[in-house]
Amino acid sequence: MKKVYILTAIMATLFSCGTQKNASTVAPIAGKKIVYNDLFTGKTMRFDFHHAGNSTTEQYFFDRVIREGMWAGSEVSLINPFDYGEQHFRIVDVATGEVIYKNNYCTLFNEWQTTPEATTSERSFPESVIFPEPKSNYTIEFYARNKVTKEWEKRYSQTVNVADYNIVPGKTPYESVDIHIGGNIANSLDIVLLPDGFTADEKYKFLASCHMWSDALFKYAPFTQNKHRINIRAVWAPSNEKGISKPGTGKWVDNLLGTRFFTFNSERYQMTEEFQKVRDVAACAPYESIFILTNTNKYGGGGIYNFYGLGSAGETGKTGEVYVHEFGHSLMGLGDEYIEKGNTVSALYPEGKEPWEANLTRFVDFNGKWEKKIEEGTPIPTVAEKGTTEKDWKIGAYEGGAYLEKGIYRGWPECMMKALTEFCPVCQEAIIKYLDYICK
Ligand SMILES: [Zn+2]
Repeated sequence: MKKVYILTAIMATLFSCGTQKNASTVAPIAGKKIVYNDLFTGKTMRFDFHHAGNSTTEQYFFDRVIREGMWAGSEVSLINPFDYGEQHFRIVDVATGEVIYKNNYCTLFNEWQTTPEATTSERSFPESVIFPEPKSNYTIEFYARNKVTKEWEKRYSQTVNVADYNIVPGKTPYESVDIHIGGNIANSLDIVLLPDGFTADEKYKFLASCHMWSDALFKYAPFTQNKHRINIRAVWAPSNEKGISKPGTGKWVDNLLGTRFFTFNSERYQMTEEFQKVRDVAACAPYESIFILTNTNKYGGGGIYNFYGLGSAGETGKTGEVYVHEFGHSLMGLGDEYIEKGNTVSALYPEGKEPWEANLTRFVDFNGKWEKKIEEGTPIPTVAEKGTTEKDWKIGAYEGGAYLEKGIYRGWPECMMKALTEFCPVCQEAIIKYLDYICK
């Protein structure tokens, strides 16, 4: 499922700054060793805020800070080295000025900014990030990419006093159920599966869907070979009503997480605009990555990098493949490799700018992607001759991807991120690198 591709012809202009008046290019992070036990308490902190603006402006508004359960992320990999996403945030120790944590992500607000609505109106979306709780006072800094140059710019910062009595204690009212436990929490990828639109009598239907999700994931390389460092837990949180809203057909459902089809007027695109509720439920299990299963048989889904993924729990014919495809987006921001015929312009992938996704290139900055895997003499663009199959293909630069026909390239003719087949060798390698980082 596409992340969003309703309007690709809007030429985004330079973002103006929100609460941060003077955007500046990002300072590099010093390479000092960060000793987890010296700097962090072992708990998770959650910073809730609202991200508002229109297609060319953005502002951040603080909501609250919540102290949640144990930190489920790595105690070693604390500075995300992958230049993925449209956003990143940093935690800076006030006393030393050192960056002690950094993570990258994308949001629904980022996507909304590329819709027609954003050219004529202002909107606000709830957002939230989590990080290991620092022992000492810290500043949280938010960065976004400039829409034209794609360079990082600081947008907002706020200092948090760790002794502030306004820090809200987190609640864990829902039951957590183990679906697959591969390793210990600190050295594994911890995925949490959340239900939406399942009523109190449908617990076992939801848990059966969770096992189906787990089986689907482990069917595909490289997840098959990495089962031992992936944990999957479910949180059982029932809704008042069954199903998911379908605003385009006039159907609204009182479900817990507010999931719906017709996101940004795209019928199959399922999302929720209530991300903080999603975090509330996810907090009932140790987690790094969120996936929501919606109680519907209607085909659809969505996935946003380090935000959440979402898919229909019912049998839609391609249920398992859709799960894994959306998880490719939400885990590490893999880009869609498919083409929309006749599509030549994209605000998401402007000409002359290298996509940050690991599996797409415009040859502006190909370094560190799959350039070393292309054998000498391979024609660029590479073409898979008609009638050939996987055993005849080689890694190259096949033209088309990210909904565009021309000017953007992928490494292999077919992929889970293109046609719901196996992950291509380029995606597989990128996933392994990402797991190596998370599972340290
Ligand atoms: Zn791929």
